[in-house]
Amino acid sequence: MLKIENLHAEIDGKEILKGLTLEIPAGEIHAIMGPNGAGKSTLAYVLGGRPGYEVTGGTVTYNGEDLLELEPHERAAAGMFLGFQYPVEIPGVSNVQFLREALNAQRAHRGEEKLSGGEFLKLAKEKAALLGLDMEMLKRNVNVGFSGGEKKRAEMVQMGILDPKFAVLDETDSGLDIDALRVVGEGINSIMRASGKAVLLITHYQRLLDVVQPDKVSILADGRIVKTGGPDIALRLESEGYDAVMAEPA
Ligand code: ADP
Ligand code: MG
Ligand code: MG
Repeated sequence: MLKIENLHAEIDGKEILKGLTLEIPAGEIHAIMGPNGAGKSTLAYVLGGRPGYEVTGGTVTYNGEDLLELEPHERAAAGMFLGFQYPVEIPGVSNVQFLREALNAQRAHRGEEKLSGGEFLKLAKEKAALLGLDMEMLKRNVNVGFSGGEKKRAEMVQMGILDPKFAVLDETDSGLDIDALRVVGEGINSIMRASGKAVLLITHYQRLLDVVQPDKVSILADGRIVKTGGPDIALRLESEGYDAVMAEPA
């Protein structure tokens, strides 16, 4: 599904990703952990196509296509979803309006018929119920006045409605209490734990991985993947720290 080879990227002329190689096949949930400043968010932004992040070398292939050639909206239409640590507030636009526009734009791009208002509301209700979010919240403006936990729940509803093939979730669990964390983890499981889907899950915390149970865990340090293995890596990072685990042979 996603194949990153020897990726180099810079911000303001400063190289942040320094030859990053990573492959995520369909059906896999791959957690990325790593020290602060390692380049995890930069990787998420480069995959999303954020302006200002310049790729200076390497390739990213998504379902056989050159991802780096696609505009951000084309990436979304091709089934990519990005979730961030701090979801933005959009005053004046309700969640329902926003999500219906986003979904229908993606459907149009794929040559699929748009959903009517009624069809969309039915879908939104189903996904909101699945994630335990009151429909009234979806009628409110996007994230305005939402608590941290409500923003995350709303983001999971967003992911459920858009139904991506590949999700990049950057520290989507930061600052959440135990209940909200469980909602996010179970949301990832129910929406993305399906054949043909894949997730790149950036996190600092084992507690999210207790719920999601990744297939693989990689450590990103100084702009490169320095170690990849099973879920045991995350457990050992928690007890032994980055230095000890990274010091071993890969
Ligand atoms: P992580 O998410 O792993 O903590 P980031 O990808 O956010 O790391 O940052 C990687 C490096 O890039 C850090 O050294 C950070 O200071 C630098 N960086 C991030 N954003 C910018 C920016 N807009 N301009 C210059 N340097 C930046
Ligand atoms: Mg950070
Ligand atoms: Mg980060």
